Amino acid sequence: MGDGVRIVNGKINFECKMESCKNCCCGVFKGITNRLSNVDHRPFDEIVLTEEDYENLYRCGRSDLIEEGYSEQMGKKYFRMALEDDGSCKALVDGKCSINQYKPTLCRAFPFYFDMFSGLCAVNCEGFSDEHMTDLKDSLPSFEAARKMYTFWIDFYSDI
Ligand code: SF4
Ligand code: SF4
Repeated sequence: MGDGVRIVNGKINFECKMESCKNCCCGVFKGITNRLSNVDHRPFDEIVLTEEDYENLYRCGRSDLIEEGYSEQMGKKYFRMALEDDGSCKALVDGKCSINQYKPTLCRAFPFYFDMFSGLCAVNCEGFSDEHMTDLKDSLPSFEAARKMYTFWIDFYSDI
């Protein structure tokens, strides 16, 4: 658990610890609980893949990490990261992400996401520390990944 989010003068107390993170993103995904209801009844810790993620995993020879999911509510299939029996992501090896270069959009956005009511939000992970401040601009790739996930979901639910 990190020190909580702090933004001062265009700087944020966040820096992803990447491979040295003791609690890789997916460890945190598993711990996310929410009072919101997912109308589609999918679990919040599912790592859904965009079309681009799917193609990237194929291209780098890791199609074994892709699993098919099915939304009963929407009557359509989608793709997600395959999980081990204990619910951890199959790409997690020795506590680290083994596909850093190709990790899915959702993982690249994490710990940031945009909330309809309050704008930029973040899950308090190991990367938040009051011992360092980085330019907020450095987090733009994560914001862009979060935007792509929104587009993915809007497209998914527009198809009704
Ligand atoms: S985003 Fe947070 S939890 Fe994920 S690897 Fe970086 S520091 Fe760790
Ligand atoms: S792809 Fe990598 S970062 Fe994403 S959940 Fe799996 S191991 Fe974690």
